[in-house]
Amino acid sequence: MSYIDPNQSMRLDQVKLPVCAEQGISLYLLRMDLIHPQVSGNKWFKLRQNLLEAKASDCERVISFGGAYSNHLHALAWAGHEMGIQTLGIVRGEPEYAGNPTLSDAQRWGMTLKFVSRSEYRLREDILYHKALCSTYPGSRIVPEGGSNALAVRGFSDLFDHDCWRVLPEPDLLVSACGTGGTLAGLIAAKPAVTDVLGIPVLKGGGFLKHDVQSLLAAVEAGSVSNWQLDLDGHEGGYAKLSAELIEFMHQFEMQTKIELDPVYTGKMMFRLHKLIAQGKFSRGTKIVAIHTGGLQGRRGFLERGLL
Ligand SMILES: *Cc1c(COP(=O)(O)O)cnc(C)c1O
Repeated sequence: MSYIDPNQSMRLDQVKLPVCAEQGISLYLLRMDLIHPQVSGNKWFKLRQNLLEAKASDCERVISFGGAYSNHLHALAWAGHEMGIQTLGIVRGEPEYAGNPTLSDAQRWGMTLKFVSRSEYRLREDILYHKALCSTYPGSRIVPEGGSNALAVRGFSDLFDHDCWRVLPEPDLLVSACGTGGTLAGLIAAKPAVTDVLGIPVLKGGGFLKHDVQSLLAAVEAGSVSNWQLDLDGHEGGYAKLSAELIEFMHQFEMQTKIELDPVYTGKMMFRLHKLIAQGKFSRGTKIVAIHTGGLQGRRGFLERGLL
């Protein structure tokens, strides 16, 4: 994408938590959150090929799906605005959400919002529903929820060419939060062969992601890579659910490292990873890179409701 050069701002920061010293672990955070103030984190990687292709095929509008605080819709609205592509966000929930910080930004950047019931939202992968949307809004291209398709996975392909890896070209383990699994697939397809990958789903019952990630990998000819796993015990009760322990952990982490986390994804990932390190799950000397996938705009919705 012309408007942003990630080489300027992404970095690898070593995070010195007491538990890492105790267990002999080197822990780094890949600061994708620094890529850009609006299209931060993994969404930049996931959207760029999708929007370039939309632009190249002269499509007028990109339609996608998300919740009322969606990082994906937020990033899509800004990127579409910058690239001269109209955007339509299909939002699960009531029109009252239109005034929240996430959707206010999206509308300011020109995104049209269509609020739908939970039952209509469930049709988001239905081909007939897509046909109906495209006949109501001609000249549209549909990008799935979270932006996760083969183009999104390909968007990560040059990740390891970035200068920031010079200090640590072949980490032992990458760790990322997972929602729809597109980011995890992108990391798995792009990583050095020796590097293992651990995905931490932030929703309850995330076992289906095994299949979804595998299909995305097959779609980019990376289906044979097998050194990756999911940890299904890091969801803290479910999507966007916050436990008191999680909030306490985030505050402590932010005090110790001066790095902000978001409660839905990166906070849960770090909380779980911290537990796994404390339990001695990784051998001494292991070099771990956790991905800061961004999402900090989503903090506002929790702050506004007094939940953080
Ligand atoms: C969307 C998002 C994720 C999850 O990415 P998927 O590709 O859907 O698994 C992780 N972290 C943040 C901050 C996100 O916004």
